[in-house]
Formats: sequence, structure tokens, C-alpha cells
Amino acid sequence: APFVAVHDACKTYGSGQGAVRALAHVDLQVPRGRFVSVIGPSGCGKSTLLRLVAGLEEPDGGAVRICGRTAAQARAAKMIGFVPQVPALLPWLDVLDNVRVLEKVNRPGNRRESRRGLASDPVALLTRLGLGDVLHRRPRQLSGGMQQRTALARAFALEPQVLLMDEPFSALDEFTRESAQLQLLDVWQELRTTVVFVTHSIAEAVLLSDTVVVMAAAPGRVAGVVDIDLDRP
Ligand code: ADP
Ligand code: ADP
Repeated sequence: APFVAVHDACKTYGSGQGAVRALAHVDLQVPRGRFVSVIGPSGCGKSTLLRLVAGLEEPDGGAVRICGRTAAQARAAKMIGFVPQVPALLPWLDVLDNVRVLEKVNRPGNRRESRRGLASDPVALLTRLGLGDVLHRRPRQLSGGMQQRTALARAFALEPQVLLMDEPFSALDEFTRESAQLQLLDVWQELRTTVVFVTHSIAEAVLLSDTVVVMAAAPGRVAGVVDIDLDRP
């Protein structure tokens, strides 16, 4: 079975006259170790789909399974990492401690023994993400791109079974975004964390992913699935 399996998920917000149908009969399968992007027009339900996988919301119909568990169970077991569009860093801690502090309190207990050099070495991880010179800066002394890369480092350091990202680069300018994308790809190619990545950028999806899931306009349905044939090492 796929590592992440969304089957026939439906979601409507509100009820009666004010009801908003966000998702209609969505299927999503993510094998372990894959980087899957979900793209589609604004409002098509991408964030909703991600929140269902994150266990932050329940589908009205259908099912979400992560490694044989419900999303809520997977969430409770700290199997799921989430990188939102706006990074939530602790303002009183420097970059390095932002990565280390949650690592200590939040590490999932159900993990196979730690086998990932880069994920267990915050300095190396931050350096690979281009933050080696700013380890001791506080978040407010960082650019938006640096803040988001710190959030990525923290997410990878926690070694989630599944890492969900909701348009993490969409607030960055073009130049900052491109280097952040390449650094993410570099780290991911070493760690091979299972990723579901939401974006409205086709170029970003093609650059980063193994598989692109294309959603139609709301209420979101999966309109197509494209496998990217990358010559990756
Ligand atoms: P996307 O991430 O693709 O932009 P969303 O999942 O954010 O799409 O939203 C899908 C639809 O559901 C939109 O019409 C949006 O306005 C609506 N929606 C999302 N969240 C809520 C909510 N909490 N309450 C009501 N409507 C919502
Ligand atoms: P995104 O940028 O991912 O599309 P949105 O701007 O659609 O996100 O949503 C941001 C937040 O607002 C989400 O938490 C979502 O649940 C909520 N939201 C979105 N649309 C609505 C809506 N129509 N009514 C209430 N809350 C909404």
C-alpha cells in the first residue's frame, strides 16, 4: 500500500446556504520516499487536502491513511511534519537553537534508529541550506528566504515520516526562491523524506517532484497525475 493514501476524500466547509465545497472525491497516493507536488488554481482545495493529510481536519467522506494509521493517529505519533507558507520560528532563539530545540522535545518515538547523518547534524543541515554564516542570528535578523530555510531545516531535523509543505516559497522573490528550491532539492536528495508539496507554480513542481498531481478548480478533483522522469542520482 502507498505510504500516504487519500481515498475518495470530500470536504465541505460550513452548511446550508453558506456551504463551500472544497474537495470532491480526491484520491492521492504517495509511495514512501517520493516527492509529490500538488498543483492547481487558487482555491481548488490544495491546502484543504494538505490539512486532511496533516490530521488537522477530518474529511466528510472518504479516508486518509498514513502508514496504516489515520491522519489523527499519525499526527499524535509525531509522524507528520508541516512547513506552512509563513514560517513559525521562535523569535527569542537563534537559527541553530530553532532547529535544535524542537528536535529535543518533538522527536517521534516510533522511528527506526537514526540513520540519517544530515538530519542528525543541525549545523551541517543548516550549512547545506546556505545558513552556515547566520547560525547565531535571531529570526528577525533574517531575510524571508533565510527564515523559510530555517523552517525547512527544522522540519527535516525532526525526521518526520511524511513532510508536508504548503507553498513554502511563494512569498519569496524570484532569485531567493530559486536558490531555496535548489537547496531543498539538495537536502531532499540525501534524506529522501516522503514529501507532499503544495504549490501553484508548475515550474517549481517540475523542478522538485517525482510526481505532480494536478487538481481542477473547486471543488477540487484530481484532474491528472504526471510522473516526472528525472535523471536523479
Ligand atoms: P487552495 O489551497 O488550493 O487555494 P483551499 O484549500 O485553501 O484552496 O480552499 C479551497 C476552498 O475552500 C476555497 O473555496 C476556500 O475559500 C474554501 N475554504 C478553505 N478553508 C476554509 C474554511 N476554513 N472555511 C470555509 N471555507 C474554506
Ligand atoms: P492558501 O494561501 O493556502 O490558499 P487561504 O488564503 O485559502 O490559503 O487560507 C488561509 C486560511 O484561511 C486557511 O487556514 C483557511 O482555512 C482559511 N480560509 C480560507 N478560505 C476561507 C473561507 N472562505 N472562510 C473561512 N476561512 C477560510
